[in-house]
Amino acid sequence: MSDEYPYYSPSSIRNFFKRSEVSIRKKWGQNFLIDPNLSVKIANSLLLECRGNILEIGPGLGVLTAQYLKQQAEVHAVEIDPALVQELETRFSQYKNFHLYNQDAQKFLLKLQEDDDFRRDLKIQCAGGNLPYYITSGLLTRLVLIPGILKGVFLVQKEYALRCSASSSESSLNVFLNNFGSWKILFNAPPSVFYPAPEVQSSIIEFSAYEKRICDAEILQKILRMSFRGKRKKIKNAWAMSDAHYSLDIMTEASAAAGISLEKRPEEIHREEYYNLVEFLQKILLKQ
Ligand code: SAM
Repeated sequence: MSDEYPYYSPSSIRNFFKRSEVSIRKKWGQNFLIDPNLSVKIANSLLLECRGNILEIGPGLGVLTAQYLKQQAEVHAVEIDPALVQELETRFSQYKNFHLYNQDAQKFLLKLQEDDDFRRDLKIQCAGGNLPYYITSGLLTRLVLIPGILKGVFLVQKEYALRCSASSSESSLNVFLNNFGSWKILFNAPPSVFYPAPEVQSSIIEFSAYEKRICDAEILQKILRMSFRGKRKKIKNAWAMSDAHYSLDIMTEASAAAGISLEKRPEEIHREEYYNLVEFLQKILLKQ
């Protein structure tokens, strides 16, 4: 099979699906990249920074995979759609550095996080992909929990990229993701570089992991859930709700130690303050 990637035009993609007797799945967020220059630029943004094995989420027809493989990267690609898996298997069969998994990437990430032997075998250091938009949040919040992943370059909806990279704490996602590393928008991508074209703008975002996460991930996740569930609510009211993870008394003590007023709303608290709150709460919990 030729080395050249053959799906840079809408008609070639339409023909592929016709031949395979399946349709493009909206439910799996299938918007394929059709711009050769942009695909090279996205793949290189990761390759330039990556020294180890790559995890690719949602390879699709292999537009980024082809670039990673050409540069001899060891690629572990996870694709949910069996029709695409069949195509990828055939197209990249000559590459010994290509490993393909027909799975839900969310489950795959959980296994990587929880199964030490599996993680040691795969030696993944970097992650990339044009992410299916319907699970972007779930994928990134799982990915940052995997030890050893140092870099990531992802194509996501622009609005989502802005949320990850913002310096303010207006979303719980921003606070959570920035506990593990920094997030930077590298460049944008208009709808015309995809087939089918999405209705929204997209951006390429880079994740660079910190050597050590700032605070405990589990406690942070619980505090964020407790705080952000009533967006307009002051934290003292959100924390007083009956199903809160920690009692209002404990939270009051921890927030006093961290210098956070209970009159604030969750989005008015800076993310550094959340990280401090976790530290103080952890100390209080240890004493109990
Ligand atoms: N990388 C390809 C490209 O840029 O042309 C395809 C990107 S498309 C936006 C997202 C890809 O993720 C599709 O191939 C889709 O089938 C796959 N996908 C969707 N949900 C998935 C899941 N839960 N696990 C793994 N792959 C998934």
